Amino acid sequence: MPIKKILVANRGEIAIRVMRSAREMGIATVAVYSDADKLLPHASYADEAINIGPAPASESYLVQEKIIDACKKTGADAIHPGYGFLSENAAFAKKVEKAGINFIGPSPKAISIMGDKLTSKQTVQKFNVPLVPGMDKPINDVEKAKKVADEIGYPIMIKASAGGGGKGMRIVNEKKNFEEQMERAMSEAKNSFGNDEVFLEKYIASPKHIEVQVLGDKHGNIVHLFERECSIQRRHQKVVEEAPSALLSDKKRMKIGEAAVNVAKSCDYFGAGTVEFIADENLDFYFLEMNTRLQVEHPVTELITGVDLVKEQIKIADNQPLPFKQEDLTVSGHSLEVRVYAEDPSNNFLPDTGKLLTYQRPQGAGVRVDDGYEEGLDVSIYYDPMIAKLISYGKDRNEAIERMKRAIREYQISGVKTTLPFCDFVLGHKEFLDGTFTTKFVENHFTPDVLKEEISDEMSEAALAVAHHVFESKKLRVSKNHSSEKKWKSRARN
Ligand code: ADP
Ligand code: ADP
Ligand code: MG
Repeated sequence: MPIKKILVANRGEIAIRVMRSAREMGIATVAVYSDADKLLPHASYADEAINIGPAPASESYLVQEKIIDACKKTGADAIHPGYGFLSENAAFAKKVEKAGINFIGPSPKAISIMGDKLTSKQTVQKFNVPLVPGMDKPINDVEKAKKVADEIGYPIMIKASAGGGGKGMRIVNEKKNFEEQMERAMSEAKNSFGNDEVFLEKYIASPKHIEVQVLGDKHGNIVHLFERECSIQRRHQKVVEEAPSALLSDKKRMKIGEAAVNVAKSCDYFGAGTVEFIADENLDFYFLEMNTRLQVEHPVTELITGVDLVKEQIKIADNQPLPFKQEDLTVSGHSLEVRVYAEDPSNNFLPDTGKLLTYQRPQGAGVRVDDGYEEGLDVSIYYDPMIAKLISYGKDRNEAIERMKRAIREYQISGVKTTLPFCDFVLGHKEFLDGTFTTKFVENHFTPDVLKEEISDEMSEAALAVAHHVFESKKLRVSKNHSSEKKWKSRARN
């Protein structure tokens, strides 16, 4: 039976994102919201909304029975889990199916194989997918682990099997720190993921993060929708993303795409998914993990391929075959996304939650804003502090960058600090412009003073504007471009 009503088991921007596609398909929508989210636009956007309890996610968005009950109450016949929360919980997917509700996502089997970084490595190995050198088994014996670390060679990365969202990772540069870091990694893994399984991987010194979007249907067809580059990260978590990657040749693009399709094949994947790789300085790539859900940065892929990924997810759940083959898909133009987090980039990117006193979105050609807030609302401490995703599209990378810089300047947010000034800094940096940037970008180039410089540059720009006005009225001329040229040069020196 075709899906008629979708409950979105999520909040904020991704809930609205999903409901928009459902609405375009003539499918009714149900929102869920916690006590903290009563006023959020995702709750009012939906055709119906159900309160699922107190603010802490563990008492609302993560309570499986509450979500399933909300479906029964409203007659929703499908659940879209968004990202985060229950999206990669195999037990939940199973429970949903058991309750006779369509889970818009992959099979519980694929979720559990790929949800565990080690099991996923073991699985994809058989499909000739290149792996980051390291172990494919968990280890909890520190002495044994030390020997393995010697064999792999320092620096080493200790990772939680169940890790995610940039959490549960430790870098060990030297043998003498190994023991302490391993113990920390295990206890962190236990605390964050309820599972102390860790493993070791070679730490690739300065890699690019390149990932591939895949789509599979329930009839065995799997395609990839090219790559996204997400190397600009803080705390191992992405802030600026783009598609396609600036440096990949067409040949490498097809090769990494094929590897991603093989990863998906290894677990009989259906639905939308992302295969993540890291690439070294030769752009040789190694499998990191697969995320079995819609990814935060999926819009950049939508803009360069013209495919609405949420609609495809819904049609796949509805048993429909993919409407295209690999050879039908092409890359057109270039797209960037910056994540607008309520964080203070000059204070270690610590969350800076509070009321959005001013909130005005940018507009115009080639600009898309996916967000979940309005002016006057609170960005709550209970959830991920992402306010919005600002996405730009251009005929080429340069146009996408210039549009993004223009849109960042139009974006007016006050009341909380945001990552926007940081993103603006990134977009002006020569290493970003020439495409050679790696996941080390923040560590290598970013200090809070570069933002102060920008602010004072902007102030001098404002001062110049005033001067310009005064001079104009006296029929004298002043170069308005002077300070922005200076900014460009000072950035290029970084
Ligand atoms: P993406 O992987 O989609 O590029 P993130 O890494 O930022 O983006 O993760 C998306 C969201 O899911 C974030 O809100 C993140 O906190 C959350 N998340 C992902 N995996 C986990 C996990 N295993 N445990 C807790 N939160 C997770
Ligand atoms: P998560 O599940 O938290 O997303 P990932 O395995 O995808 O974990 O890694 C997140 C980020 O951490 C990567 O994008 C990369 O920047 C960094 N990273 C992970 N593994 C390695 C490694 N072996 N060497 C260097 N950097 C790594
Ligand atoms: Mg990852």
